[in-house]
Amino acid sequence: MSYKYYLALTSQLPFCSVPLRIDTYSGCQFSCSYCFSKARGGAVSSNTLQEIEPEQLRKRLARVFNGKLSGAVDEFLLRRVPLQLGGMNDPFSPWEAHRKRTLDTLKVLREFQYPTLISTKGNLATKQPYVEVLQSGNFYVRISISVGALDTVRKIEKGVPSLSARIDMAEALSATGIPVSLRFQPVIFGQEEDALRVLKLAGSAGVRHVSAEYLKLPIESRSRQTSYLSAAIPDLVNTYHSLDAKRVGREFVLPTEVKAPGLFFLRDNAVAMGLKFGFAENEFLHLNQFSSCCNAADLFLNNCNFFSGNILGILKRQMTNEKIEFCLPQDEWLPKMSVFSHLNSRSRGKRLVSTKEPTPRTRWKNLLIDKWNSTSGRGGPLSFWGVVSDGRVDSHGNKIYAQSRLLRDTLSSYVVPAEG
Ligand code: SF4
Repeated sequence: MSYKYYLALTSQLPFCSVPLRIDTYSGCQFSCSYCFSKARGGAVSSNTLQEIEPEQLRKRLARVFNGKLSGAVDEFLLRRVPLQLGGMNDPFSPWEAHRKRTLDTLKVLREFQYPTLISTKGNLATKQPYVEVLQSGNFYVRISISVGALDTVRKIEKGVPSLSARIDMAEALSATGIPVSLRFQPVIFGQEEDALRVLKLAGSAGVRHVSAEYLKLPIESRSRQTSYLSAAIPDLVNTYHSLDAKRVGREFVLPTEVKAPGLFFLRDNAVAMGLKFGFAENEFLHLNQFSSCCNAADLFLNNCNFFSGNILGILKRQMTNEKIEFCLPQDEWLPKMSVFSHLNSRSRGKRLVSTKEPTPRTRWKNLLIDKWNSTSGRGGPLSFWGVVSDGRVDSHGNKIYAQSRLLRDTLSSYVVPAEG
């Protein structure tokens, strides 16, 4: 069955620089017990499997690059904002060996030299003809690895190639010149020390970059996922409750101050080993010293642009300023067509942005202003680590923010990583 929604903007648009996902399959054959794609219905069982039609993608890209646009997604494509291949489901599930939808998709993307980040745990990418296609395209491969005690990791990643197989995969791809990142996702709280072992392996395998994000716990305490996770990580639910994990959407996430020490520990060790490091937690994205969010794709992909007309972009442009003010310059690129149908109700905020606003640009700006001034802080500057209220408002009534001393000290202690 043809996959209708194979390409879409994600609801992370208000804070993500690469909010465009593409999936070659609507399902995944791996069984990671922390997989939220499955929990959210983003992955389906094989009997209703939908698959991308690579020829449809080829026609779409040809139309877009001939200037015929039919929506905001097309505008992002024309702008060459990188695609995240595998945003919902692993593109290298074992069925790829005979269905080859990912291979054909990669060939189409290569034809347009379209900048693409690939997220996977499957090791088919190291086989021919994949390697040849990846080498001659505009690709960057991110291999996901759970970080924690080996025994725990084995239990939560059922059916997935082993850690050593994935490190071998990173080494094999790196050796052919394909840029490779390791995504430490998820990191198990309290087991961060185990990451040092993986970091050392990463360094000697030629990996260029690592990013890290803690485990999120599904809110449904009786879900199959939660019981698998609890069986593998004793006391997980109690630990999250005792640490005051907060509910975000359908997940419990650890508080920012609980995650900070572990993330800085990982960052410091990664940098000491000569690796680039990306903070993948939303509240830490402003600490990434790349144009792209946590993934540093600007260092590894060619001829691409990143979306910065959002809250994160506004913050990052002012990280060296004393005052942080709402500012969306007139020349900031935004799609001319509406993006609102791509946002879920949480991303849109409580107040529905009026459809009577004259242009999608104004509507988008109003959405950002709502987030900027939100009293809960959710989605606005206060949700970012170390950003504090200045207590004043600007001439338009928008709140002014500042950096806490800790944030200032942290940024000034950073040595900006060298390019390349
Ligand atoms: S590989 Fe990715 S999509 Fe597949 S089960 Fe694991 S986390 Fe989910």
